[in-house]
Amino acid sequence: MKIVFATGNGGKLREASEILGRGFELVTPEKAGIGEEIPETGKTLKANSVQKAEYVWNKCGMTCFADDTGLEVDALGGAPGVYTARYAGDDKDFNKNMDKLLYELSVLETEASMAAASGLKVKKVSRRARFRSVITLIIDGEKHIFEGTLEGVIAREKSGNGGFGYDPVFIADEFPDKTLAEITEEQKNSISHRGKALRAMAEYLKSLNL
Ligand code: IMP
Repeated sequence: MKIVFATGNGGKLREASEILGRGFELVTPEKAGIGEEIPETGKTLKANSVQKAEYVWNKCGMTCFADDTGLEVDALGGAPGVYTARYAGDDKDFNKNMDKLLYELSVLETEASMAAASGLKVKKVSRRARFRSVITLIIDGEKHIFEGTLEGVIAREKSGNGGFGYDPVFIADEFPDKTLAEITEEQKNSISHRGKALRAMAEYLKSLNL
């Protein structure tokens, strides 16, 4: 069965193909005749994934899915969330994004320690965070939503060369001594937010016995 995956990211396409396995051929929007950039203007991860999947469905009427991922940091009230890719600016620079995140948390921690030093009772700043992926699958015009999360904490500094995005500052609960940029791709795929959402979608598709 042919399915359009609304992404231009080769790594994501490979990961999704591996998880879906035989019987499912993933194609890019370009291969389905959609050459333009797919709009992504929603205010939530779900809204963005729905918007991208609906765009593809409306254009080519093929079974399709789209994903959207965000990093939610508790001490920042869930930011950067839907703005994760552009946290430090429209150039989507991963290093600038991570620097901004580390800076924001260090400001909160400095404020908290100053308040504590002046005798106020303050709560420790939590570095707890999670990646959340939302996938919208459209099949026969019907939408199906799948989610996956990866819990962890934000490190004090960047570490490791692997992965992408915020991997060098994210320490998953499953690998507490390393950032995501210091574990293997296989280890990361086994626990990742996107992997979980993809596996949930794969299970659903396989249950349909198409
Ligand atoms: P997207 O929706 O998959 O494009 O993800 C949005 C942004 O979240 C990306 O630009 C990355 O900065 C970040 N991100 C998504 N998944 C990961 C991950 O597995 N590790 C690190 N950063 C990620």
